[in-house]
Amino acid sequence: MDFVLLGPPGCGKGTQAIIFKNKYGFFHMSAGDMLRDVVKSGSKIGQEIGEIIDRGDIVKDALISSMVGDAIRKISPEQAVFFDGYPRSIRQAEDLDLMLSVLNREISKVFYFDMTEQGLIERIQGRMICPKCKAVYHEKFYPPKADGSCQCCGHPSLLKRNDDDVTILKKRLHVFEENTRPIVEYYKQQGRLVVVQSNQPIENVTIELESFIALTKN
Ligand code: AMP
Repeated sequence: MDFVLLGPPGCGKGTQAIIFKNKYGFFHMSAGDMLRDVVKSGSKIGQEIGEIIDRGDIVKDALISSMVGDAIRKISPEQAVFFDGYPRSIRQAEDLDLMLSVLNREISKVFYFDMTEQGLIERIQGRMICPKCKAVYHEKFYPPKADGSCQCCGHPSLLKRNDDDVTILKKRLHVFEENTRPIVEYYKQQGRLVVVQSNQPIENVTIELESFIALTKN
């Protein structure tokens, strides 16, 4: 029983994935975190990926699908996965179905996080992340401790992402509409899509996801 969290940048996918990881032991498969780890390695491919991310584009389908494929094979069959930021194109959605079917796994539901553009801009502008455990904070909606450290792992400082800038966000939203929006229809036609209003408090979104996941189990 695996799930996809789908939605534009800043809609709250990562926040929910981390909550489900800590509360229920879900595996959080974040394509963005995987790519940022390659960037940190300083390799040539890492530099190229860093440039793509910083200008708001997306990396090639074959590259990210092979990274996700390698990661899925290491997950225990009993552990449910939240895919966050993957798939981002029809080709990736097809790759994912194929890779999962070989492992006798499947995407049970796809949660589409619906949010207005103004809401996304507000979320992105205040977003901070922990470089160590990847926890996500927001200056106003979900502030870290008063000393600026991470509540989850105690790391002393948080970071702003280079691509969390309004001009780059507009580019990322355009890329989302072009590449990722068609997947919403793809999953809808297959009866796997659930639309979640993410313009509400974090706890309410969690409760909505919990109820759909409980229904899926029954
Ligand atoms: P995210 O952390 O999900 O916002 O992703 C950050 C950036 O990583 C994106 O803007 C893309 O440049 C890249 N990226 C993440 N996931 C994918 C994917 N599934 N396919 C291609 N590029 C991706």
